Amino acid sequence: MQTSFAPNLLADPEFAESEKVVRTCVHCGFCTATCPTYVLLGDELDSPRGRIYLMKDMLENDRPADAETVKHIDRCLTCLSCMTTCPSGVNYMHLVDHARHHIEKTYKRPWPDRQMRRLLGSVLPYPAVFRAALSGARLGKLASGLLPKRLRVLMDMAPPTVPKASPMDRPQVFAAQGKRIARVALMNGCAQQVLMPQINEATIRLLTRHGCEVVVARGSGCCGALTHHLGQDGSGFAKANIDAWTAEKSRSGLDAVVINASGCGTTVKEYGFTFRADPAYAEKAAALSAITRDLTEWMAQIGLQPPVVETGQRVAYHSACSLQHGQRVRREPKELLAAAGFEVTDVPEAHLCCGSAGTYNLLQPEIAVRLRDRKVANIESTKPDLIAAGNIGCITQIATGTALPILHTVELLDWATGGPKPDRIANRSGQPPA
Ligand code: SF4
Ligand code: SF4
Repeated sequence: MQTSFAPNLLADPEFAESEKVVRTCVHCGFCTATCPTYVLLGDELDSPRGRIYLMKDMLENDRPADAETVKHIDRCLTCLSCMTTCPSGVNYMHLVDHARHHIEKTYKRPWPDRQMRRLLGSVLPYPAVFRAALSGARLGKLASGLLPKRLRVLMDMAPPTVPKASPMDRPQVFAAQGKRIARVALMNGCAQQVLMPQINEATIRLLTRHGCEVVVARGSGCCGALTHHLGQDGSGFAKANIDAWTAEKSRSGLDAVVINASGCGTTVKEYGFTFRADPAYAEKAAALSAITRDLTEWMAQIGLQPPVVETGQRVAYHSACSLQHGQRVRREPKELLAAAGFEVTDVPEAHLCCGSAGTYNLLQPEIAVRLRDRKVANIESTKPDLIAAGNIGCITQIATGTALPILHTVELLDWATGGPKPDRIANRSGQPPA
């Protein structure tokens, strides 16, 4: 695509990258067929190609965002399915990140929208605040009929009980069992440790059982994606992680940063790019991105121990967009589940998003529910006993649309190799192999 960005704009690294991305697009339209919003809405402006035109027009002229552009960019899930499909290698993620940043700088959203975004950005990344908010939301549910629609959606997503904080999420070192083969930092994250603390617990058990010393580094926490995707500044969170893991690396060495929430993994793998123009962080960020691994990537690398129980479960593996499109990790989770003794089914339309997409299900509930229902119908068509996924956002989103149990992949791998049986699985299996 031809571009005409002014030279003064191209001196800015963000504009320079966007120009490069736009130039790569040959507007062939292959991406439209796999874009969930185009598939649902059928509007060219809700397709990757249409959005690229809108973003080009806005950024090339450095003009303030208008309501029409904002509407179509806001409807984008950032699922990155278009990046998987694109034959020209268009980096849609970098372009849409820049466009969102530009929108937040130049566009005044309606008051309720601004308040909702501010609320999400000031609650979700902070586990203690989020936990308190969820407890309050349980009471708020009683009066949810009186609340504005947006807040009602938020209340309805709150779990009926809020789990206690896990002591394993505190900064500490977990010793490897047997011979130590590696030392890794586990990113303990933000919302996940509040909603499902058992995920980090299962991860730590699995890693230590496989000879990894696991560090939960003091000062690490939210990856910054939640605020970043709201168009807010997430760099403080990212810098805190980079400082915490770099300190650990210098003190005792780190072979990997292991992440069990694929949305966060995609963001941390991008730290090197994000801080490329920051002399204080560029080198450290790139070094950490280079050793960041999704939990399943890391387990495939070090090798899974043979199962010690016969789990007897048929599992529909839901491939989170951030894992399959953002990180291109597709084979490993299914192969690990199969090696652990699960029967893994192939879900139709696996490339389509479930509608979670960070805070999308709260900000665009109508589209999110349609995508969830389509995903659930596809999953249930495979007649599984349970669903596995590698991202907390997908787990909470899909759980609101099905009675099937949905677990994190790591909970199943942990159970099969010697951990406790997850309490959401019906008591019909879990015997030692014959
Ligand atoms: S598939 Fe790639 S090159 Fe073709 S229109 Fe979409 S983004 Fe552009
Ligand atoms: S990121 Fe997803 S929703 Fe957004 S344009 Fe690409 S395919 Fe469509």
